[in-house]
Amino acid sequence: MIPPVFDYHAPAELSEVLHLLGQLGGEARVLAGGQSLLPLLKLRVIQPQAIIDLHKVRELAYVRQAPEAVQLGAMTTDREIERSRILHDLCPLLVETVQVIGDPHIRNLATVGGSVCQADPQGDLSTALLALNARVVLQSARGSRTMPLSEFIVGPLTTALQEDEVLTRVEIRVAADRATSAYLKMARRAGDFAVVGAAVMLWWDEQKRCKEARIALCGVGPKPVLLEAPAAVLRGTRCEDAAIAEAARRASAAVEPYSDPTVSAEYRRAMAAVLTKRAIAKARQGAEVAV
Ligand SMILES: Cc1cc2nc3c(=O)[nH]c(=O)nc-3n(C[C@H](O)[C@H](O)[C@H](O)COP(=O)(O)OP(=O)(O)OC[C@H]3O[C@@H](n4cnc5c(N)ncnc54)[C@H](O)[C@@H]3O)c2cc1C
Repeated sequence: MIPPVFDYHAPAELSEVLHLLGQLGGEARVLAGGQSLLPLLKLRVIQPQAIIDLHKVRELAYVRQAPEAVQLGAMTTDREIERSRILHDLCPLLVETVQVIGDPHIRNLATVGGSVCQADPQGDLSTALLALNARVVLQSARGSRTMPLSEFIVGPLTTALQEDEVLTRVEIRVAADRATSAYLKMARRAGDFAVVGAAVMLWWDEQKRCKEARIALCGVGPKPVLLEAPAAVLRGTRCEDAAIAEAARRASAAVEPYSDPTVSAEYRRAMAAVLTKRAIAKARQGAEVAV
């Protein structure tokens, strides 16, 4: 399959990207890892007049530990996340999550910016980033703005990105102290997108009681969601089996799953409970060692 004809731009500076987006706006698409964009081009689902390739913009590829946040440049690949010492220490949830995305070839190319902007309802990385309370930084020639990821992803393949904006950075401001986490996904075959995925972050006090919990699921609605009801059950408990079972029940009650030709909504709802339960139990197990 051959993509439609387009003008190709490969600027080396972010300022050039912003200038081009300001000029071309809705006629242009930004290219990151290309793992989602290229199939859409080849299938002619989208036919932009111009592609702005970000690969030469080296200032967009980094993992940094800033004073108040861990920062991931938009062009940081899944593989770089997997190998990052900073993320191993401060956000192991992300490291665990990228290991179940696609296969090594995909992970060498797919980027954090592309994954978030693709807004796939079954996106693993967006789900983990929701549990980490991530924020996105969007830039245009007009200036920059920051917003919670939960507001940025609007619906299936739809974000709050304006036509002249590019996502430059994802920021995570979570305390790593006394925190444990887990990401689990159920897929039909190894390397597939999740049928349902569950990301869990738990924070513990000195008595090994859960101080704070964040639970996000994907594959259960039009976009990955952060669920308050199951998290609320866990706060103040030691995450005993009864609390976990109630959290799992609440998770399956809170979601609005859809059916597709391969998986029914009922099955997704059942899997929401199963994966929530297993992911909390796995994060609790981590607390026995780490807290
Ligand atoms: C075979 C296969 C298996 C996969 N398996 C999984 C899986 O198991 N789990 C999973 O979560 N994902 C999976 N993916 C998706 C993969 O993670 C994608 O690569 C990712 O979702 C998109 O990242 P990308 O860097 O390739 O973005 P691209 O494909 O380059 O771009 C995606 C979209 O985001 C826009 N965009 C990209 N970067 C920016 C930016 N900085 N600012 C503004 N807009 C931007 C593009 O214009 C485009 O609309 C799979 C993909 C394939 C091909």
